[in-house]
Amino acid sequence: MSEQLAIEAFERSGAWLKGHFVYTSGRHGADYLEKFRILEDPVATTALAGLIAARFRDSEVELVAGPTTGGIILAFEVARQLGVQAVYAERGPTDGWVLRRGFAVGSGTRVLIVDDIVTTGGSLEEMVACIETAGGSVIGAGVLGDRTGGFRRLAVPFYACLTVEFPSYPASACPLCRAGTPLSAPRGSKPSPAAV
Ligand SMILES: [Zn+2]
Repeated sequence: MSEQLAIEAFERSGAWLKGHFVYTSGRHGADYLEKFRILEDPVATTALAGLIAARFRDSEVELVAGPTTGGIILAFEVARQLGVQAVYAERGPTDGWVLRRGFAVGSGTRVLIVDDIVTTGGSLEEMVACIETAGGSVIGAGVLGDRTGGFRRLAVPFYACLTVEFPSYPASACPLCRAGTPLSAPRGSKPSPAAV
């Protein structure tokens, strides 16, 4: 039921694009999730944040943390629905996420991490490290979309509103290239190569 709600939200907001895309891996595929079409739609964002909040409502969450850019919007709304505070992480000087602007995580605070789309999972793992370094205890992670087909690398409970696995091909074996389908560009991105 909630998966159906998520599919409808992605489709209605125009976040689930069909075409011919070049992913960051360099591989080609016909589907693309554009998180900003969800995040620019307060009704869709609130509904999906509600799914994440519902999943972790009984987990005694004390703080919600999210990274720039989409994770901040989600952390705010999930925290609002859970009745707790939110903190926002930014890119560090070298790599990984850091808490700036006086954000503090009390020792042992039960933290729920949220983010928009999981593509490789590296960003989520970096968020876990960021919160643990700050003294928090990560109790789970919730995201809008999981593009890995079922992300299982975290040691804590993981929830995705939508789980998908798009077929992808090396450019040399791409059926869309073979058919002469022009490359698509998600709105707001450069035409080629498209960024994912
Ligand atoms: Zn192609």
